[in-house]
Amino acid sequence: MFYPTYQSKKDQTVHIVKDQNQCLCGLKHNSFYELNRQDLRNIVFKQLDEVTCETCLKKVEKMQE
Ligand SMILES: [Zn+2]
Repeated sequence: MFYPTYQSKKDQTVHIVKDQNQCLCGLKHNSFYELNRQDLRNIVFKQLDEVTCETCLKKVEKMQE
């Protein structure tokens, strides 16, 4: 299964995108989008084993229970 993910420019962590504003762990990705619309292209579909944010991974596990 593939998830929409966002890679943080700060530390290169890969997060799972929850909605237009934030990732599952609460990180806001939309602030980047507002600064530069091209950043929307940073949202790509990846498999879970490519996600490196521990908090996002834990939340996904909870959603699947
Ligand atoms: Zn995250």
